[in-house]
Amino acid sequence: MRSAILLMTITFAALAVQAQTNSGYRIHDMERAEAPVVTPGQNGSPPADAIVLFDGTNLDAWRTKEGGPAAWKVADGYMETVAGADDIFTKQEFGDCQLHIEWASPADPAGKIDQDRGNSGIFFMEKYEIQVLDSYQNRTYSDGHAGSVYAQFPPQVNATRPPGEWQTYDIVFRAPRFKKDGAVKRPARITAFLNGVLVQDNVALTGPTGWLQQKPYEKHADAMSIKLQDHDSPVRFRNIWIRPLPQREHLKKIKMKTREAKVELSTDQLDRFTGAYETIDPDDEKKEVPFIVIRREGNQLLAAIRDKQEWPLFPQSETEFVFETFDGTLTFVQDEKGAVTGVNFRVGIEPDFEKKL
Ligand code: MG
Repeated sequence: MRSAILLMTITFAALAVQAQTNSGYRIHDMERAEAPVVTPGQNGSPPADAIVLFDGTNLDAWRTKEGGPAAWKVADGYMETVAGADDIFTKQEFGDCQLHIEWASPADPAGKIDQDRGNSGIFFMEKYEIQVLDSYQNRTYSDGHAGSVYAQFPPQVNATRPPGEWQTYDIVFRAPRFKKDGAVKRPARITAFLNGVLVQDNVALTGPTGWLQQKPYEKHADAMSIKLQDHDSPVRFRNIWIRPLPQREHLKKIKMKTREAKVELSTDQLDRFTGAYETIDPDDEKKEVPFIVIRREGNQLLAAIRDKQEWPLFPQSETEFVFETFDGTLTFVQDEKGAVTGVNFRVGIEPDFEKKL
């Protein structure tokens, strides 16, 4: 008797704890929004939801600083900086984004060394630079190599190809967030792959890019142009596409609704379901423990699922039960005489039938 009371106490204490997950959704919750479909590109071509900024034919998506037509050279599927034509800016403005861009520094470095060799740059929001440089066997300061967040973070590794070869950047940029008074709420962040190799791993920028200095943040718009730098080297670019990133909707948390019994079942009704259930698949290796074992404690049914913990069950009807912490259903099946013959166990869409042993 004492032990029975003790067991009941433990069970009710356990049930009183509100189930928690990282999201507020049940594990495997079918009510959680499904990710939108995006048809991926092939070999660097844009995915279906990307905005193409340069497809090799024209500079329509670009402007000068003053808003005039971008005057870089376009030939054979690439664009190239033109001395004196200055930096170019996207007409469209972006905040958080994923950028794909390919670049090539001059095949012949022409005796240029250090920062004079194939220098350009990709500036997010016109301010935050990922360096473009011919860093192949070219000693320069480490925070100015290709793959660096210029003057702030050297690349983790030097993954550059020889001059003249096409190189690929895939960059995730998170714009800084500012408070009303202009203070930084969240700094800008960059993750970058150069030729498929991680060079920046979610680094928090100190502020806008500067030469000889690390400038402090200054509050600015939520979306601004991307700038490609004319740094007196004929650097080429091609296949530029961008995906503005959502505000992490898929990470939004909700408050989990507590599971409740929708019907009250007598201990006699509950006892019909207790016992062991096993998958009836001839190919299935015979296991020592049945797939599902159900027992009753007071008015509570508990289900142990192979090698895992034991979960309380909440009746939704005379034959259907749900779990608290994950989105699963047990629907008991009975024959014409009312004897329980098995249970349909659902997680996801398709239930599996488990035969009562
Ligand atoms: Mg540069």
